[in-house]
Amino acid sequence: MKLAKLGDGPEIFHTIQGEGPSAGSPAVFIRASRCNLHCVWCDTDHTWNFEGTPWPHEKDNVPGYAKHRKSEVTIELDPAQAARLILNFRCSRVVITGGEPLLQQADFLELIRHIRAERPACVFEVETNATRIPSPEFAAAVDQFNVSPKLANAGMPDALRLVGDGLTFFANSPKAWFKFVVANPADLAEIQALQVRFAIPRERILLMPEGRTAADLDRTAPWLAELCRDLGYRFCDRLHIRLWGDRRGV
Ligand code: SF4
Repeated sequence: MKLAKLGDGPEIFHTIQGEGPSAGSPAVFIRASRCNLHCVWCDTDHTWNFEGTPWPHEKDNVPGYAKHRKSEVTIELDPAQAARLILNFRCSRVVITGGEPLLQQADFLELIRHIRAERPACVFEVETNATRIPSPEFAAAVDQFNVSPKLANAGMPDALRLVGDGLTFFANSPKAWFKFVVANPADLAEIQALQVRFAIPRERILLMPEGRTAADLDRTAPWLAELCRDLGYRFCDRLHIRLWGDRRGV
């Protein structure tokens, strides 16, 4: 499986889940390399924004930013090796994130099976952009899907970022929670349109403030929380940003 590289090894780290319905829970994160989307503001662009690709990124004009050399940000492991690294942590929650993990779901299914063989009560969350449908075996093995459909502010055509079959699958799955990052009130109209179009249950929609610093979050959180109160959505903070800022591996 292709994983993001952190230092000399894979990006596997023990932390606190910062977002979604299990926010605050200790968890081991494992980050898949590769994504089929290319959001202009992606904060894990080392999983896909490789040298030679044409995709723009909002950091293109930041001095010192450059596309990543694939060999420097990717590492290949077999699922049993990755499972062993995860089992080294005394933790019963694993978050499979990316990139887009569903591009490698057969490998991640194998990883889950290796871990469950030794730690049967381990809970698995998968973070996805909802453009791919899980196989029946993978869907059964995963406990929770954290689904983040991308809005127009991601800078891609609708046809690329909104896949009807994927969104319908997750809207109908009791394991799926929809997380939307909200930067301004205009994002709300788009979220509500998606909710209606794909019949996403309101109680499984979480809205989070956009931001890479606690100060950013503080600018958006108060009005977003009031909006959630008034519209019946669930408000969710981004704990990892408050605790550690926009850093990898924590
Ligand atoms: S879907 Fe996620 S990982 Fe992929 S480019 Fe967008 S934000 Fe980044």
